[in-house]
Amino acid sequence: MSAPRLPPLPVIRDILKLYNLSAIKRLSQNFLLDQNITNKIVAKAGKISGAEVLEVGPGPGGLTQSILRQVPERLIVVEKDKRFKPTLEMLADSFGAINGKMDIMYDDILKTNMESLFSLEKKRNWNDKPPDIFVIGNLPFNLATHLIIKWLHAISEQRGLWAFGRTKMTLTFQKEVAERLVAQPLENQRCRLSVMAQTWTFPVLRFIIPGKAFVPKPDVDVGVVSFTPLVKPRTQHDFKFFEMITRHVFSFRQKYSVRCIETLFPKELRKDLGLMMYKLADLDPTLRPTQLTIEDINRLATAYKYLLEKHPELKLYNYRSSRHLLPLNDTKNVVVQDCAEM
Ligand code: SAM
Repeated sequence: MSAPRLPPLPVIRDILKLYNLSAIKRLSQNFLLDQNITNKIVAKAGKISGAEVLEVGPGPGGLTQSILRQVPERLIVVEKDKRFKPTLEMLADSFGAINGKMDIMYDDILKTNMESLFSLEKKRNWNDKPPDIFVIGNLPFNLATHLIIKWLHAISEQRGLWAFGRTKMTLTFQKEVAERLVAQPLENQRCRLSVMAQTWTFPVLRFIIPGKAFVPKPDVDVGVVSFTPLVKPRTQHDFKFFEMITRHVFSFRQKYSVRCIETLFPKELRKDLGLMMYKLADLDPTLRPTQLTIEDINRLATAYKYLLEKHPELKLYNYRSSRHLLPLNDTKNVVVQDCAEM
């Protein structure tokens, strides 16, 4: 039996005119009016027919229309700007006409309680294939990086949308950010974001949307990236701890990575403990940050953890503060002795 067809939907450009909807810069509003492009984003998201879908920031509803045409079992949209109420309600009514269910939430996605959004029967075990739940969004640029880091953290703890299993996401980012998310070792764009995204998910840059496809046109092009959470993350370390190590690893991109790792320690101990970390991790200290694989960074994290266990006072050192709380001379003697014993 073929899927029910939606009644004809209005053209988004007409909707913008009819409701006098202009883009608000503060909310990073750049609308996609070309249905070929919005259809392509939805096609890359996976088989959404019969699934539950969350769309972040539907705005006037261009991408929403493409999602509805695939007839998901249920669509939930989360939009901060209430000006889109009439157009979103019209879409919900059209979908209702073919017995579809579209729920509209006027909320900040950063504050939305994700765990209560979906039906429990969609839940899958983490090791199973991903659940029939999809996240799709043409995200505001000013929110995209913040949101993906927040969601990677949730993935690492299998909470929120990821309490339902390995929920897939298909999201837009400004092109440079999209390229960073998928950059491999030795590539120019490799950075903390690449490592964090690839430690917990398999990110794929699907295609680039030229800036001119948006209204108003942003200064940059846009990349569509899909993320599938990994069954087995590439580290067993806690997200915040691993992120902190990765942040240090990329603190000076052009220098030997040991110089970056040294910043974990107070000045007086830096050289010794930096080298000790590389010895423990069995790594060449002259490797540059972009040459390190996730497994290398993971070994450095394990080495640091080992040092913290042996010398918990090292935890008190805060690289960014000018004052530190360590009884440095004592620590130096003990730690350097350890180093010599290795
Ligand atoms: N999806 C529409 C499209 O493709 O044309 C609009 C995309 S526009 C880049 C981003 C949308 O996200 C806007 O509608 C904006 O109001 C909404 N938005 C911005 N910040 C938000 C937040 N914190 N929570 C939910 N929606 C937000």
